[in-house]
Amino acid sequence: MPARAAKNKPQPAYVEVVLPIPIRRAFTYRIPEPMRGQIKLGSRLRLPFGKRDIIGYAIELHDELPQDTDVDETKLKNVAAVIDDEPLITPEILKLTQWTADYYASFWGEMLKAALPAGLHAEKVRAKRRKAVRLLRTADALVRIASEKPLTEQQEFIIEMLRTNGGEMLFTEIIEQADVGASPINTLARRGFVEVYVQDVRRDPLREAELPSRDELTLNAEQQIALDEIAAALKKDGEYKAFLLHGVTGSGKTEVYVRAMQAALDGCRSALMLVPEIALTPVFSRRLRAIFGKEVAILHSNLSAGERYDEWRRIRLGEACVVIGTRSAVFAPLENIGLVIVDEEHDASYRQHESPFYNARDVAVMRANMTGAVVVLGSATPAMESYYNAQAGKHGKYTYLHLTTRIHGRSLADAKLIDMREVFRAAGGKDVALSPELLTAIRETHARGDQVIILLNRRGFSQFVLCRTCGETIKCKNCDITLTFHRRENKLICHYCSYREQSPRVCPKCVSEYLYFVGEGTENLEDQLKKKFPSMRIARVDRDTMTRRGELDQILLDFQAGRLDMLVGTQMIAKGHDFPNVTLVGVVSVDIGLGLPDLRSAERTFQLITQVAGRSGRGEKSGRVLIQTYYPEHYALRHAVRQDYKGFYAEEIRYRERLAYPPFFVLASIMIKHRDLAKAMRNATILRRSLDTAVRGRAGNSELPALRRRGDTDSGSGWLVDSSSVRTLGPAPASLSRLKNEYRLQIILKSQSRRALRETLDIALLGAESLGCDMRSVFVEIDPVNLM
Ligand code: ADP
Ligand code: ZN
Ligand code: ZN
Repeated sequence: MPARAAKNKPQPAYVEVVLPIPIRRAFTYRIPEPMRGQIKLGSRLRLPFGKRDIIGYAIELHDELPQDTDVDETKLKNVAAVIDDEPLITPEILKLTQWTADYYASFWGEMLKAALPAGLHAEKVRAKRRKAVRLLRTADALVRIASEKPLTEQQEFIIEMLRTNGGEMLFTEIIEQADVGASPINTLARRGFVEVYVQDVRRDPLREAELPSRDELTLNAEQQIALDEIAAALKKDGEYKAFLLHGVTGSGKTEVYVRAMQAALDGCRSALMLVPEIALTPVFSRRLRAIFGKEVAILHSNLSAGERYDEWRRIRLGEACVVIGTRSAVFAPLENIGLVIVDEEHDASYRQHESPFYNARDVAVMRANMTGAVVVLGSATPAMESYYNAQAGKHGKYTYLHLTTRIHGRSLADAKLIDMREVFRAAGGKDVALSPELLTAIRETHARGDQVIILLNRRGFSQFVLCRTCGETIKCKNCDITLTFHRRENKLICHYCSYREQSPRVCPKCVSEYLYFVGEGTENLEDQLKKKFPSMRIARVDRDTMTRRGELDQILLDFQAGRLDMLVGTQMIAKGHDFPNVTLVGVVSVDIGLGLPDLRSAERTFQLITQVAGRSGRGEKSGRVLIQTYYPEHYALRHAVRQDYKGFYAEEIRYRERLAYPPFFVLASIMIKHRDLAKAMRNATILRRSLDTAVRGRAGNSELPALRRRGDTDSGSGWLVDSSSVRTLGPAPASLSRLKNEYRLQIILKSQSRRALRETLDIALLGAESLGCDMRSVFVEIDPVNLM
């Protein structure tokens, strides 16, 4: 009976799909007869859409159209093709992406596209297959059969070669090594000596990497306590628990991660580890390969599309149960996850900086929460939000684990600020990028045979005005935020409240004329260094090196092996690396970070300096850090020099509270982009009006029904229950007020209540659309990392 029932069971005839475009709704397609039964949840489908084809994802299957639907069956289009035999997306990832899209007020289809490693959304990538040859007969059988009709010399040679190669070789290998054509192999196959078959070839991101030897370490007491707590949580199978592992640089966090992952595997569960963009060094990946062997899959943006596809499929098929990867690896289709680790959890590279916006750290916590896994957020400089969440008492969302000392009791590097105002004066007002003190230190370090890292903090395009004499920057009257210089208008503008003023000729504080437009002049620093130190082998690491495949790996390996003396680079070299022979780190122009008109600029500077200081003196020798600044009094620098996280936190959290910033307030940024400034203004104005209406509506009607939100798995914990108001700021020109030929205007929303903020936003977006606002030009970002 059951068999018969199964046979007669109708196969789904309709599929609902979401598409990778900024449209919130799902679409229904008809499944043509031959494809019925082939489509599963998460399948990629080729679909006719308007005049073109589009790739969409199956999210629901129906045997019949639902009764209450307004879909007209006769107008439905057919699915054009099913792309994968086995969907790349698992049901768990479907649910996670749905939650993520909803949490970030984004689009499910776009989130699914972003969830697949770059290049996998489009259907081009396939498994790579090659012909291989396998020996079939035993030695005895060979003799017997061969006696019937003798083998040729070539055929015997091939069999012998196969035997010495473990009975299996690639077809092309045999042809090359035996120097034969295809025909003797085919004859052997016909006579039943060998079998020719097709094999998937794995494109291995590490290739034939030499693996480091594994040294058995004994954990120190603090590491052991941290590991024990994590392992205990893992033992409670299926129970969610979150940890913040706060360990100073060089305290041995990695060793804790690795053992915790081992503990997860021992409990027959899989492990996922996220690392910042650049931290996935060739050195670290090889170390993991040495520990976890074939079970580790590596996912990052520097892989070729083929490598990415193979790694992803190995995870999907259960061949890899340890995954190490950057941001989008949080969506890796691992089953049965026991442990999720986010290393350097504060790192900005976890944030996707274009639509769909998401923060992989927060998605990782949610993923653990949804699947009953343990999540460990690790950092030497936790994000303000994370540390706040780890405070005992009512914010105690995370259990706090602390590693307070460096391994072997090594001291932290000796850090010192160099006051560039004095250097400037001593040089008679001449522009100097490198202070004599730093130059001397480089010379000394090199003379000792040690290595040097020079960090050039050159991020951001924004310019601000700095007085060279007194170190003053010019701030907004309302916002306590540095004003941004807009060259074209020659004005200083606040990007939060639109306040503007004429750009000054002299310093408003000390009337000095030495105003300096920070953001210029560091370009040729590498050349300057090369000229000053001709005998040093210097390499540069920046975004350009990042994009050339293999080059970055090579530079880092060379530096590790001592084939380079100095690394010059942007902040990416500040993170995660463990180079024991580096005893000097110099930081040039740290002020660019401090002056960025952003709520997190102090936090970022503190993190950067602490991290970069952590790169020095990691081996037997002690290290030095020299930080050039026009701003030596700044609290971020003062605390960073002492590696005093708690001191910094205490000061910064007061500032956040006073100015109504996270973690006390939830922020949303709405960017309105358009090639035509008038149209951008028009859309922004409509949006602002509908926001005001929505805010008034909420205030006037506290009974306002909560919007039903798809995938709202959270019954209150993440949403502050509140009463509070929503504040709207803007529209004002964004810091990058014109980009890629588009004007950018920004509106900021602030509220103590996540729910209030989202309800207001959702209502306002609907309202704006009905008032004719062009929604394609509107980009919403929840919890923006920066407001630029
Ligand atoms: P972190 O990630 O906290 O900055 P690492 O994990 O890179 O620190 O550890 C710093 C160095 O200390 C590494 O070279 C690591 O191999 C070594 N190390 C870690 N734990 C131990 C230990 N228990 N005993 C000896 N060496 C250790
Ligand atoms: Zn001044
Ligand atoms: Zn302002």
